[in-house]
Amino acid sequence: MESASVDVAQAAIAGVGDPEVAFAHRRLRRDAFWKTIPAYANVDENTFHSHVFQARNSPTSVERLQEVLGGLVGPAFYADLREGLRRAPMSIRISPYILSLIDWNDPYGDPLRTQFLPLASQQLPDHPELHLDSLNELGDSPVPGLTHRYPDRALFLTLDTCPVYCRFCTRSYAVGLDTDGVEKVRLSANRSRWSQVFDYLRSRPEVEDVVVSGGDVYNLRAAQIREVGETLLDIPHIRRFRFATKGPAVMPGKILSDVDWVDALVDVVDRGRRMHKEVVMHTHFNHPGEITGVTQDAMDLLTERGVTVRNQAVLQRGVNDDTLTMQILVKRLSYLNIQPYYVFFHDLVQGVEDLRTTLGTGLDIEKTLRGATAGFNTPTFIVDTLGGGGKRDGHSYEHYNEETGIAVFSSPTVRPGEHFFYFDPIDCLAPDVQQRWKDTNERQSMMEEALAVAG
Ligand SMILES: *Cc1c(COP(=O)(O)O)cnc(C)c1O
Ligand code: SF4
Repeated sequence: MESASVDVAQAAIAGVGDPEVAFAHRRLRRDAFWKTIPAYANVDENTFHSHVFQARNSPTSVERLQEVLGGLVGPAFYADLREGLRRAPMSIRISPYILSLIDWNDPYGDPLRTQFLPLASQQLPDHPELHLDSLNELGDSPVPGLTHRYPDRALFLTLDTCPVYCRFCTRSYAVGLDTDGVEKVRLSANRSRWSQVFDYLRSRPEVEDVVVSGGDVYNLRAAQIREVGETLLDIPHIRRFRFATKGPAVMPGKILSDVDWVDALVDVVDRGRRMHKEVVMHTHFNHPGEITGVTQDAMDLLTERGVTVRNQAVLQRGVNDDTLTMQILVKRLSYLNIQPYYVFFHDLVQGVEDLRTTLGTGLDIEKTLRGATAGFNTPTFIVDTLGGGGKRDGHSYEHYNEETGIAVFSSPTVRPGEHFFYFDPIDCLAPDVQQRWKDTNERQSMMEEALAVAG
């Protein structure tokens, strides 16, 4: 079997119930897939997967990408990409691992390309209700880089860089380099900012759970993993925390090559266990094609060393918004002991309307997933409501009008008595409704009507 996308295609032809489907998630590629990229043709396996090679060779500009890919794609693609980047809230940074897994015979349709390289020809106008930081993370921050929205847990943004930049990042207000459109809030990894965060956490005895995120903790040095981990473990009321990183999905080889980093993580996990506290890793795979034999080796190592890993995926049009892809993703993650925790409906983010899909689509996919594997490996489909109402189970809307694409949620634990919206992408609605959305008054009345029905 050549690749995960071939698996998916073959499984689609074979149909559910066929052994091809039953076993597709176990076929992990172990070929030298990077050798088709001109710049990596002579790179051996150990070098290619090492974190040093991956970090040093991640293109951060169209020029550099062109040097790496050579003639694999034509000038029209690069022109489309340059134009796409002008409207994008994220600068580019893509790992050689992901770059090599893209099918360069079909870059326009490839689900991995879709996530990292914006093409102007595929972009859609932003939703009229879109605002930067649509989840109001800045508004709920008592100190810079800490969002405290839920009573017993908090989100700590330790730094503002990542090993790659996803074009759909919810935290585009802070993560990555400035772009034409966005001057970012800076959240660098420094002691004085962190100590404000730690002081705040010490002062809030109700906080039991911390999401240690960024940016991405893959970019913290081993000593910084220890510093953050030890400090949080030493706060008596903190019972559990998660290190959040996309790393395993975009450069799994680091788990095998960066011994200091993994030792630091494992030491924190082990000390936590002795203190009867839970320290885990949360990661972010979106498509089965991101998972290879190297991912399996990396995850096997974390399993052996006692690190629990969970996954938070994002539902994306053209990437994973079909039943079969999502089933294979969930089963492949489970096979590697990664627990599929959440699938997020796509947040409203500038320049990525083409990636969002409707609430109805996601809920239909959820129905076909439940029962396909163990309940604890079946993800909950989550809407992070606009304006800071927090995460809600997609099914729990107070009102959803598939015609206008407006959903209304309540949030009793976070902001009791208030209502929060989620909106389907406008291009998925009927033409006459799309017209109504163009008119400010009509838009207002559709939203008011939805609130009235929601009660
Ligand atoms: C997602 C999130 C959390 C963690 O929520 P869980 O449902 O426990 O995964 C905590 N704080 C903020 C601000 C978040 O966005
Ligand atoms: S790795 Fe996470 S934080 Fe970084 S760009 Fe991607 S989605 Fe955003």
